[in-house]
Amino acid sequence: MTSTRWLAEYAWLPEQAEPTPDVLIETVNGRITGVTPLAPGGRPDAGVDVLADAVRLPGLTLPGLANAHSHAFHRALRGRTHGGRGDFWSWRDQMYAVTGRLDPDSYLALARAVYAEMALAGITCVGEFHYLHHGPGGTPYDDPNAMSAALVEAAAHAGIRLTLLDACYLTAAVDGQPLAGTQQRFGDGDALRWAERVEAFTPDGVHARVGAAIHSVRAVPAEQLATVAGWADRRDAPLHVHLSEQPAENDACRAVHGRTPTRLLADHGALGRATTAVHATHPTSGDVALLGESRTGVCLCPTTERDLADGIGPARRMADAGIPLSLGSDSHAVIDPFEEARAVELDERLRTRERGHFAPVALLTAASSAGHAALGWTDAGRIAVGDRADLVTVRLDSVRTAGVTPAGVWFAASAADVAQVVVDGRVLVRDGHHLTVDVPQELATAIAEVTTRHE
Ligand SMILES: [Zn+2]
Repeated sequence: MTSTRWLAEYAWLPEQAEPTPDVLIETVNGRITGVTPLAPGGRPDAGVDVLADAVRLPGLTLPGLANAHSHAFHRALRGRTHGGRGDFWSWRDQMYAVTGRLDPDSYLALARAVYAEMALAGITCVGEFHYLHHGPGGTPYDDPNAMSAALVEAAAHAGIRLTLLDACYLTAAVDGQPLAGTQQRFGDGDALRWAERVEAFTPDGVHARVGAAIHSVRAVPAEQLATVAGWADRRDAPLHVHLSEQPAENDACRAVHGRTPTRLLADHGALGRATTAVHATHPTSGDVALLGESRTGVCLCPTTERDLADGIGPARRMADAGIPLSLGSDSHAVIDPFEEARAVELDERLRTRERGHFAPVALLTAASSAGHAALGWTDAGRIAVGDRADLVTVRLDSVRTAGVTPAGVWFAASAADVAQVVVDGRVLVRDGHHLTVDVPQELATAIAEVTTRHE
């Protein structure tokens, strides 16, 4: 039995608008077994003895943060696509060039480094939206789930939990245009064969689980949407889908199906509490109502959306409609949950020229419990008895955070201020260093393998 007592200078407890000072957190075998705010003005009478063996956590301790939308290999493009003009579609061509060079070994090395970078940023769980399934030309590997297995192994090495959102990707456009070139590696032929392959993949369930994804309405024909949604529903698994990231997708969907992508998903049973729509940058007001009524979640990816010139999603309108919001770093132009979260508020300010749309606690919820729930981990993302023992401690004495109120970390801190990360009761990051992965070195090596060597 592994039991630890932690004494947090500040901890952000559930339902609290602000962090609580001096909180004793007890963990046993990876679960939180006790959360005790010590009395204001002092410790209990026996305080000194009771706390003698507690591990001090100076700074602000947050629950584990969840990155609800990741494509690990996109990290290889960071800082490499900014030289010229272009848009989402020209960026995608560059992304496909990297895609063409990955195999299970190089993907394991790259994803391990990327997930370790996430751990350094306080991310204890990632949703990997995975569509690079097969070998060149679409030929399956001997193990048709070799790429999925590489991602699960990468997360284990990096020490974080993973939901593998296995994406069904069958066509190149809404009109059913067949996959060509690199895209052939994404395809299973049809949704039934997709389901058959995914069905055969059963990771341990302790640090990894499987969910489903509809890549987008561009990639799954309307008559096959229900097959993917039904698969997820029968397994009580999360279902994610890229939705209305680009106006062009809306236009194409209207032209072919006479309705918006959101309406198309609704008509084929793909919306609901277990569904997360990724981006939802360009929904109509009718779409927002559909998402809200069905309690479909939305995963915003603000740093990617700005990097790709996608636009600003209507975050406040969606939250007001009852849509749970989560966050993802998607293309990993940045891996920084603080930057991602505050962008939700700051983008609204730019749009409205007013401040105060999302309180800090709403940003925390999006980054923690809502993200975990969107990935199917309903027992994580809160510092509460019974939850997984994920503790993310942020320094309050760095050049960025010195002098801020603890709740102010959401507007002041960066990923570099994460001092310690505990995942399932195990220390993974200490003093800002990953205990098992040399993150900068492994990133450099893995990215060189899939980029410069071939240029
Ligand atoms: Zn994405």
